[in-house]
Amino acid sequence: MENKLKLEIVTPYGLAFSEEVDEVVASGSEGEFGVLPDHIPFFTTLKVGMLIYKKGAETGYFFVNWGYAEIGPDKILVLADSAEKAEDIDVERAIEAKKRAEERLKKAEKFDQARSIASLERAISRSQVAAKTQVK
Ligand code: ATP
Repeated sequence: MENKLKLEIVTPYGLAFSEEVDEVVASGSEGEFGVLPDHIPFFTTLKVGMLIYKKGAETGYFFVNWGYAEIGPDKILVLADSAEKAEDIDVERAIEAKKRAEERLKKAEKFDQARSIASLERAISRSQVAAKTQVK
């Protein structure tokens, strides 16, 4: 039997994903990394960005908001602050969040800049991941 990887994505809002896949590519803090079954175990922090999985002919795209990934030979456990599958992303909401963050950055003296930048980063990344559903 061909080896598989169990990909589990857990957030404070619940279990976002749990399926057997063939390959995962994620945005680690040190850069993008790919994992196939039987990978050497490692642990890494994740940045805001895209996680891609391949399962047979299917390619899935996730937005992942920070967190950690624990990689083992047959499992990847992702613990993130929030995560959404590309098709579940509300693009209008991301556009509104981007506008809000940009407005706050203009009024830097009133708002915490680091927080506004993080919010802007999430909104931009969500829009990029959501766009993947249109490129089939
Ligand atoms: P917003 O300002 O729109 O709330 P946010 O970046 O502050 O965005 P998060 O704190 O990352 O939101 O997430 C809060 C919850 O809302 C999570 O369950 C997350 O999955 C969900 N969420 C946030 N933005 C979107 C979106 N554009 N589409 C779908 N779900 C979203």
